[in-house]
Amino acid sequence: MSKNNDGFEVMDDCIFCRIIAGDFGTDFVYEDDYVVAFDDISPQAPVHTLIVPRVHVENLEDNPDPELLGNVFAAISKVAKVKGVDQSGYRIIQNNGAGAGQTVFHLHVHLMGGKPFGEGMV
Ligand code: 5GP
Ligand code: ZN
Repeated sequence: MSKNNDGFEVMDDCIFCRIIAGDFGTDFVYEDDYVVAFDDISPQAPVHTLIVPRVHVENLEDNPDPELLGNVFAAISKVAKVKGVDQSGYRIIQNNGAGAGQTVFHLHVHLMGGKPFGEGMV
């Protein structure tokens, strides 16, 4: 763990920390002081965007600051608007731990939309 130029705790070997640092030139669909959003590399819906705090926290079991969680949630509807699914509707998913399917251990929310979701998996 180290601090970047903006004073955020980052993990040098974390793919999302590196994306946020701009190492891969990833396009951000939204960003603010606390949160970055970029499209998933392997989309599972026409719109599939990841909303990621700049600070490195593994997941909800890593004692994230409630204010940080507020910032992440506040960004969701802004990202939905940018992606054009705010009116049509969207689903958010957030995995905690390998047993839930988490593969990148930097807290993130999946925002999916652009198609109707059937029943099942909530
Ligand atoms: P998880 O399974 O941890 O909830 O979600 C991780 C997500 O990150 C997956 O949907 C995966 O496709 C996405 N992902 C993994 N590596 C990269 C990457 O390098 N760039 C982008 N844009 N998405 C990634
Ligand atoms: Zn990270």
